Amino acid sequence: MMHYDVVIVGAGLAGVTVALSLPPQLRIALLAKDQLDLCASDRAQGGIAAVLSADDSLAQHVQDTRVAGAGLCDEAVVQHIVAQGPASLDWLCSQGVAFSRDAQQRLHLTREGGHSQRRIVHAGDASGHAIMKALHAQLRQRPNVIIHEHMLAIDLCAAPDADAGIAGLLAFDQKHFCQKAFVSPHVVLATGGLGHLYSKTSNPACATADGIGIASRAGAAMRHLEFIQFHPTCLALPGAPAFLISEALRGEGAFLRRPDGTRFMPAHDARAELAPRDIVARAIAHEMQTHGLDHVLLDITHRDAAFIEAHFPMILQRCLDYGVDVRRDGIPVAPAAHYSCGGVATDTVGRSSVPGLYALGETACTGLHGANRLASNSLLECVATGRALANHLAKSARSVTAPKSTDAAAAAEVRAQIDAQAVRMQLQTLMDTAAGLLRHGSTLERAGRQIRQWQDQLGLPARWADSLRERLELRNMLDAAALIVDAALLRRESCGLHQRIDGT
Ligand SMILES: Cc1cc2nc3c(=O)[nH]c(=O)nc-3n(C[C@H](O)[C@H](O)[C@H](O)COP(=O)(O)OP(=O)(O)OC[C@H]3O[C@@H](n4cnc5c(N)ncnc54)[C@H](O)[C@@H]3O)c2cc1C
Repeated sequence: MMHYDVVIVGAGLAGVTVALSLPPQLRIALLAKDQLDLCASDRAQGGIAAVLSADDSLAQHVQDTRVAGAGLCDEAVVQHIVAQGPASLDWLCSQGVAFSRDAQQRLHLTREGGHSQRRIVHAGDASGHAIMKALHAQLRQRPNVIIHEHMLAIDLCAAPDADAGIAGLLAFDQKHFCQKAFVSPHVVLATGGLGHLYSKTSNPACATADGIGIASRAGAAMRHLEFIQFHPTCLALPGAPAFLISEALRGEGAFLRRPDGTRFMPAHDARAELAPRDIVARAIAHEMQTHGLDHVLLDITHRDAAFIEAHFPMILQRCLDYGVDVRRDGIPVAPAAHYSCGGVATDTVGRSSVPGLYALGETACTGLHGANRLASNSLLECVATGRALANHLAKSARSVTAPKSTDAAAAAEVRAQIDAQAVRMQLQTLMDTAAGLLRHGSTLERAGRQIRQWQDQLGLPARWADSLRERLELRNMLDAAALIVDAALLRRESCGLHQRIDGT
């Protein structure tokens, strides 16, 4: 049993921001399921949104966020987080993040879809990596932050007095195959997203909805789980990771075609390939469903080879690694799960409905994104809410209580041992069909029944063994999937990212 002032689960941008912003006299545990750099934050390409230009205003950023969110953003939250943009960027710069700068050494601002102004601060096309590299270097200089890599959080421990909330958490130490108890009055869940609930995702392997699973089993309220963003164009080749093929290709004239060469976007939207992400993603899904395809082609072969080499060196190289030459071939692409707008319901400080339990970043739902996320607002949310939570925790001392029980085996009674790997794949296919880009009430109902059956059948192994990680992840995925399906069933109307083909 180890005692800490604060336990943070997740070493992406949200978790690391809190760890670095807490006072150095607090003893902090920072858990990561794998090594530190395996997180979505490290993969972010575009950048982070903030109002920094004289031509821009907070009101315009608020309005762009609200329009993207299709009327479901929490107005006060949007105002609050957008206003934190400049201070969040100052903080990142003070931590040594090497953002791209213009000739006058000012932060270079680029523009992305949905933004009415140039307000995306970036580091070339690998912004997340530059941010996380600098922050992880800062962490190494903080003796009060004890880093636990390969430590998989399992569940929260209840305090003996039910009203006192939680008293810490249990984790699976994957290096030593044993259980560890982290005792603390404050637990922060910053475990990232849930992309691996679907068969295709841009997310790293750690994105298995662990924070949602853990928080929901502790009784925390959830919000907006039905709103899942799919990136329209991720590489779709058997055996290759679904890495993002940037929207910039479509911006530079790439066409979307069926494998027989027919261009289809003009039939779906007047803006054709330049329509917003969710419209392009649904159009591709429609084409794939109607014509029985497993991908469509993104074709920029009509541009000069030299132009492609100069503008898209990373995409060119990564596709060549898988035998596709972008200069000569259409790139096989399909939509892939990218971002969860919903999550554990929190305020802008990260407080959940369970005392002592906080959620941040993609695991949380502050209400900023509403029914659809505006590009580059998620990294901003990680920093703004992470700093706000650190400020709150620095002021709110709570004494450490011994947990009621630290016996994970109690929760892990052995039932029929279903094949976790097989069920995981079946769950992904089920979620693609029932809770993907297009949804139908009766399909959702059937999916809900199947997921509950798997939940009943899933047992955890009696001993700490190799298969424990896949079973723990599957348990979180099933718990989150059940909540997503329920949320999608409850929202009968189509709105933002949630499209009911049987709805109103
Ligand atoms: C390819 C890609 C490009 C993107 N581009 C942008 C962009 O340009 N701008 C933007 O704003 N957003 C972008 N996003 C979204 C953004 O990157 C994420 O929403 C954000 O980084 C999430 O940060 P996080 O700290 O919440 O989670 P993550 O960065 O994913 O970190 C999650 C952490 O939780 C840990 N973890 C998970 N489960 C457990 C467990 N059970 N026990 C212990 N640890 C656990 C992981 O090991 C990891 O350390 C992009 C996302 C992707 C995938």
